[in-house]
Amino acid sequence: MMSQRGVRLLTAHGLRESLQRAALSTTCANHKSYKLVVVGGGAGGCATAAKFSSKLGKGQVAVIDPANMHYYQPMWTLVGGGMKTLEDSGKPMSEVLPKKADWIKEKVVSFDPHNNKVITNDGQEINYEYLVVALGIQLNFDKIKGLLDALETPGVCSNYSPLFVKRTFKSLKNFKEGNALFTFPNTPIKCAGAPQKIMYISEEYFRKHGKRDKANIVYYTSLPVLFGIKKYADALWEVVKERNITVNLRHNLIEVMPDSKEAVFQNLDKPEEISTVKYEMLHVTPPMSSPDVLQKCSALVDGAGYLKVNKETLQHETFPNIFGIGDCTNIPTSKTAAAVAGQIGVLRKNLSKVMDGKTPDSAYDGYTSCPLVTGYSTCILAEFDMNGNPLETFPINQAKERRTMFHMKKDIMPTMYWLGMLNGYWEGPKYVRKAMHLGFSK
Ligand code: FAD
Repeated sequence: MMSQRGVRLLTAHGLRESLQRAALSTTCANHKSYKLVVVGGGAGGCATAAKFSSKLGKGQVAVIDPANMHYYQPMWTLVGGGMKTLEDSGKPMSEVLPKKADWIKEKVVSFDPHNNKVITNDGQEINYEYLVVALGIQLNFDKIKGLLDALETPGVCSNYSPLFVKRTFKSLKNFKEGNALFTFPNTPIKCAGAPQKIMYISEEYFRKHGKRDKANIVYYTSLPVLFGIKKYADALWEVVKERNITVNLRHNLIEVMPDSKEAVFQNLDKPEEISTVKYEMLHVTPPMSSPDVLQKCSALVDGAGYLKVNKETLQHETFPNIFGIGDCTNIPTSKTAAAVAGQIGVLRKNLSKVMDGKTPDSAYDGYTSCPLVTGYSTCILAEFDMNGNPLETFPINQAKERRTMFHMKKDIMPTMYWLGMLNGYWEGPKYVRKAMHLGFSK
């Protein structure tokens, strides 16, 4: 964590200068000013706007996001398995963003942190006193040769995009016999469990519909492990063994050839070793990166292109009036909506402190969670911190497949998201966890 002196210097000097520059701005048609601008109206941006627009009042907060729809992305795993529809997972952005915030329905095309403004694709300059960056992570389907064409052909699908998620259940229904391949790319991704959750759901679907003996299920992952946290990885190895699923570690999908229905993989430990595999079904998790617009602004990002924030306070390392939340930041924890929930309370406290000229002193513990759905009625609820230590809410062994956790994922979490988190009321399970463990938990 940044030293207290460092934080004080940033808040005292940097912030004064920033605010002076912001005060010079005027308001005209193409040039608006707000106390707080939130870039991105997804999980983190919407929750942030809800908190601060109710605190600061109407006209003080703007959210910039071009999307018509706000999706609860964690539901896409269930959409892929035919348990929910894409329509169940989304609401119009206009209904979700807080009424007291102004919604600027444009795309941010550049950041100018030295002058406290962002520029949108229609040429508007939006000035801010404080900025929260909540852009999410970018999907790069085009980085795999042939994939975009293949995603128009039968059997190829991806739960990661609203454009392709409906294809997954269609692929399951149409599957006759052959290889069903599931991939994990060679980049950081959001919800690192999702690439294999759909595999377990598919396995159960094939079993229930009399096709299991005709399906050869193979998981190709770029990682050297099945899951990053040993406790849950051990449990998942039991699941794959029991269900006769093949796992190929350190294998990266590099090309799809839809005409011959073949997928090409590279062995990352022996890059010269390339294998071409026939598929009947191919579920692809695309490579991901920090959004291009963020990468372009070198003052804001780290070497990998992610927003450079203090991993505990969420304050930008260079610009004290900028904070980050969610997938676009370089916080070294698994990128999930659950992590965003864990961050939102810290952001609320620390940004409020900075607005009051005080030192941010709340610290994010790295809490993140991944409900590892293992079929149509079971789930392992993985919860852990940024050091890879389990940080579980319930005083039971959460590495066990459980029906209760499945219902929590399917029936309870969506309501907590829409009503709690997006309205600024849910800040993660910290206090529930403490109560469940009689105070003996972090
Ligand atoms: P997002 O919610 O993605 O929001 C980013 C916003 O930024 C979007 O609204 C976008 O339109 C906007 N934006 C992008 N570019 C611009 C621009 N240039 N200008 C303005 N706005 C822009 N998480 C869990 O906790 N549990 C799960 O079980 C889980 N499962 C998942 C399964 C799948 C298949 C997927 C895809 C995700 C899953 N996640 C899960 C991850 C979770 O959805 C994300 O981590 C979470 O949404 C991140 O929130 P965010 O605010 O950082 O980004």
